[in-house]
Amino acid sequence: MNSKFQGDLKNSDQPMTSVDAIIVGAGFGGMYMLHSLNKLGFKAIILEEANGVGGTWYWNRYPGARCDIPSIEYSYSFSDELQQEWEWSQKYSTQPEILEYANHVADRFELKEHIRFNECVVSAQYMENSKKWKLRTSSGNTYESKYCVMATGSLSSINKPKFEGIDSYKGDWYITGKWPNKKIDLTGKSVGIIGTGSSAVQAIPILAENSKSLTVFQRTANYSIPANNRPLDSEEVKHVKDNYSSIREKQRKGKGGVAFTNLGLKSALEVSEEERLKEYQERWDKGYVGFISAYTDIGTNEEANETAAEFVRSKIREIVKNPNTAELLSPKNAIGCKRLCADTNYFETYNRDNVSLIDVNDTPIESLVAEGVKTTEKIFDLDVVVFAIGFDAMTGALLGIDIKGKNGIELKDKWSDGPRSYLGLTVEGFPNMFTITGPGSPSVLGNMMVAIEQHVEWITQCIQDMEADGKSEIEPDYAAENKWMDHIEEVANQTLRYSCNSWYVGANVPGKKRVFMPYVGGYDVYRKKCNEISTNGYEGFLRI
Ligand code: NAP
Repeated sequence: MNSKFQGDLKNSDQPMTSVDAIIVGAGFGGMYMLHSLNKLGFKAIILEEANGVGGTWYWNRYPGARCDIPSIEYSYSFSDELQQEWEWSQKYSTQPEILEYANHVADRFELKEHIRFNECVVSAQYMENSKKWKLRTSSGNTYESKYCVMATGSLSSINKPKFEGIDSYKGDWYITGKWPNKKIDLTGKSVGIIGTGSSAVQAIPILAENSKSLTVFQRTANYSIPANNRPLDSEEVKHVKDNYSSIREKQRKGKGGVAFTNLGLKSALEVSEEERLKEYQERWDKGYVGFISAYTDIGTNEEANETAAEFVRSKIREIVKNPNTAELLSPKNAIGCKRLCADTNYFETYNRDNVSLIDVNDTPIESLVAEGVKTTEKIFDLDVVVFAIGFDAMTGALLGIDIKGKNGIELKDKWSDGPRSYLGLTVEGFPNMFTITGPGSPSVLGNMMVAIEQHVEWITQCIQDMEADGKSEIEPDYAAENKWMDHIEEVANQTLRYSCNSWYVGANVPGKKRVFMPYVGGYDVYRKKCNEISTNGYEGFLRI
């Protein structure tokens, strides 16, 4: 959901729709939530801004978009029939294949009839008298329900380009996170791309192949590990399908929700340089997943971190022929502080004659002009500009909706110093509202599908218990929320996560409060904590 892209508010003649639960967003979180509640006999609907299911995979149609968690793991585990019948073609599937999967799930479980598409939620207000949530969409329709589940996504609200002069630019421009649903022919065109995060790292090699020239405007160099993507062979798929239950169990018990991660058990500093380099090389050859897990202290100790960081820099120097370009592409911050990228021929692309790299720290972008991008050095004549400048992560989609809780309290005010929640699932003052993979939960720090399933299952149980116990309201108490916030901060401070300007700390959005938003204590620890809380009668919650 993105408030900046909402249409005008209209008045509708439609009567208010009343259901047990309203879910906002038909991505993987929303779809499973809907299925779980439907299965229990609750009347639930999804309100979805887009014209189809898939959430982030609906919008991110940019060239090269694919997942960076192996698809056999980046998929639902809740239905064995589903995981047995679905065939992934590649290790890391492309966006069209993932979207096809999302549609398959929606059709297979007959979800679409419960989804109102093209319904962009603009406000959600808790009505204290009726103890119901009232939601309003940009088309003017109103809905009410006892439970409101925000499945709005962590990386769904785009960081809107605010470059001066954008309206005067005569060429075409596109945003990776809102890519049009049509083929864009770049043949013979001069293309510029702003940003070098995960989206750009995936798009750049393809844009370079398909255009006359590509100019990359880089602000911060990023670490990227080759994905080593490949087609899946039938033997491998059979092995996975035969062993899916143990793979899923391993995911659930793991730190990052990925079964095939080989977690190193030693410190990077307790082994010889020779052993370390061999380990890094093996992991580099194997591909993205697991590189950063080679040693226990890469994420926590600067010296250990530097060994992995320098290994990647040495690879960049090896791959990129022009030493100046290689130097510019070599990141200086701690590896893993920003989300590590997975690529196919990213650094190799800079050896192409039609690709050039501009350091916008050296020559900042001043504005867009009719011809293209104007830096302090010159005007770059461009037919097409691609903005790969990321998202207003974790909070943007929620704050894009005007959410009011008890006593008229507004979420935007409650979160003015950064998001506050209990477990990243609930917010004090906002009864019966749940956030799937919300800030304060591990969400984006691993396999999102595992995070989503855990949250949906916890929320479903919670709603079932509410109904069984005849309760009308659940919300966390202030003390429990405070304690959880302190804990999030405490574990984040034990890592190197605050040492760079990442979207995890909101640094990419001017004015956003600098707080580390996800919970870095691990999926395993977190899951246990959530289960303990519900088993102990919803410790830290007020249920009336
Ligand atoms: P991102 O990681 O936030 O990268 C945005 C890029 O744009 C950064 O290089 C940033 O520079 C640059 N930028 C932002 N504003 C700029 C400005 N005004 N001028 C110049 N440069 C600017 O966003 P993303 O690439 O879309 O990825 C976000 C997250 O989405 C990823 O970390 C990942 O979790 C997820 N994602 C996953 C996949 C996948 O593999 N499945 C693919 C894409 C995205 P700074 O670094 O200096 O801020």
